[in-house]
Amino acid sequence: PRDTVDVVIVGSGGAGFSAAVSAYDNGAKVILIEKEPVIGGNAKLAAGGMNAAWTDQQKAKDIKDSPELMYKDTMKGGRDLNDPALVEILSSHSKGSVDWMTQMGADLTDVGRMGGASVNRSHRPTGGAGVGAHVVQVLYDNAVKRNIDLRMNTRGIEVLKTDDGKVKGILVKGMYKGYYWVKADAVVLATGGFAKNNDRVASLDPKLKGFISTNQPGAVGDGLDVAENAGGALKDMQYIQAHPTLSVKGGVMVTEAVRGNGAILVNREGKRFVNEITTRDKASAAILGQTGKSAFLIFDDSVRKSLSKIDKYIGLGVAPTADSLVKLGKMEGIDGKALTETVARYNTLVASGKDTDFERPNLPRALNEGNYYAIEVTPGIHHTMGGVMIDTKAEVVNAKKQVIPGLYGAGEVTGGVHGANRLGGNAISDIITFGRLAGEEAAKYSKKN
Ligand code: ADP
Repeated sequence: PRDTVDVVIVGSGGAGFSAAVSAYDNGAKVILIEKEPVIGGNAKLAAGGMNAAWTDQQKAKDIKDSPELMYKDTMKGGRDLNDPALVEILSSHSKGSVDWMTQMGADLTDVGRMGGASVNRSHRPTGGAGVGAHVVQVLYDNAVKRNIDLRMNTRGIEVLKTDDGKVKGILVKGMYKGYYWVKADAVVLATGGFAKNNDRVASLDPKLKGFISTNQPGAVGDGLDVAENAGGALKDMQYIQAHPTLSVKGGVMVTEAVRGNGAILVNREGKRFVNEITTRDKASAAILGQTGKSAFLIFDDSVRKSLSKIDKYIGLGVAPTADSLVKLGKMEGIDGKALTETVARYNTLVASGKDTDFERPNLPRALNEGNYYAIEVTPGIHHTMGGVMIDTKAEVVNAKKQVIPGLYGAGEVTGGVHGANRLGGNAISDIITFGRLAGEEAAKYSKKN
């Protein structure tokens, strides 16, 4: 019958689609449900890249990296509060995940640097297209090719279990059909985070009350309630990530790659105040410490040319430009004289190859070509680290770490992979690796049951 399958996947972001394709390829009959009228969740908004170590793409560019180094960077970025076993999977499977996506048609050949990474390992399409939109499109095309039953406007409400506690399906609500249940041996929760739910965010971290969020409207965390009602434990819920650079003028998230490719951060006084490539939580705290709780990304045409995404910001009107730093300062209310001195000083540091002021680890280029640009930025809520507890097979577990048979979780809905702070580029890596793993494990489980 139509509503009886092996595996139901809840959520159509990167984790959900990865799980659906991988469950299918492991022999399962699959339904994917999505509560919103559009696919892609937050995943399709991701602009940075997909972190992976020891890839062919890195080797082609002579970048020396290893899963061990990715593990170390991820643990350090997460303040060592990550679940080490999950980080081990993230790092050691990352190359395989890039290869998997590449085999399915993705272009992840450009490799850039993002905050908290010791080397360039953020894989993205060459030419600056958004990695999230690209990855979701490739996964969607592959789901369509496999004829996977995709049901939009359909919300997962409650996991149904047998008397002995095994998953037997899920109660859903379709926009037109109303409530019905889908019978399945396994359910994969891939419902994303809750950054858009400011009541929930502020109840966990009062400092974040009223913060704007970059997330899509579906990111309110109802999947967490579904998991909890099914017996799953939540962990690390208090760790909520504010992205350091949301445009004040436009409310768009300005990708870390702008800094990675050479922009500096200055305050209204025209001065640098932080290593621009530090972790997101440190950069956010530093910006909130400046006059007006905002700061400016300053760059020139050489940075603009290095990243096509910047033209999008210019098109959106959030990156005013002028042919001198004094003029730019006047337009934006920054001390232009100090700004001129700051940029001159920064250029000397670039020439010397060492940032003795703030220990910035990469100094890709001097800022002295053509026009200058300023994007005013402030931190906003970007990612929720906490969520459903899973084990190394992506099985959802209860507070005693006992498996709930047939229930799986992957992506932002889970907690543990990122500890207290997620590194840029690790979200796409997480959703592909754990989505794929959850799909495979769920398919295998359903064969046995
Ligand atoms: P991830 O990055 O972990 O893949 P995303 O935010 O990209 O997460 O995607 C999660 C998707 O799940 C979103 O499209 C969201 O609308 C959807 N979703 C959230 N809760 C439910 C639910 N209860 N039922 C169906 N879909 C849901």
